[in-house]
Amino acid sequence: MHQHHQPSTMSSSTSSHALGSPWMQFCHCGKRAPVKTSWTGENIGRRFWACEKYGVDDTCGYFVWLDPPLCARGRELLPLLREKIDSLEKEVAAARVKEKNYRFGMIMCFGTFAAMGLVFMIALRAIE
Ligand SMILES: [Zn+2]
Repeated sequence: MHQHHQPSTMSSSTSSHALGSPWMQFCHCGKRAPVKTSWTGENIGRRFWACEKYGVDDTCGYFVWLDPPLCARGRELLPLLREKIDSLEKEVAAARVKEKNYRFGMIMCFGTFAAMGLVFMIALRAIE
């Protein structure tokens, strides 16, 4: 995926471009633009700086990509990943319900066990 640059063609201006470092970006309002992540379409998972009012009030209209465009494989995989996350979240929610039932089962089981233990102790004393 990542191609190595030839040392002869690599200039200091391109190598100083550090991805993932939270550069301070200021929108036209003069406020610090927060880094957001796109969850839609072709640019899924791609981060960008946008005005804090982006999507609510577009009068400022500040918008700059942080991440480079996705490769074809990324565009293919990321929506699947998103789907996987969604299904996992559903599984977690279902597991929580199961856990509740399991706890109830544990209490019932423990209750039965305690009752049996009590009977056993009484029986032991009767023998003595
Ligand atoms: Zn703004």
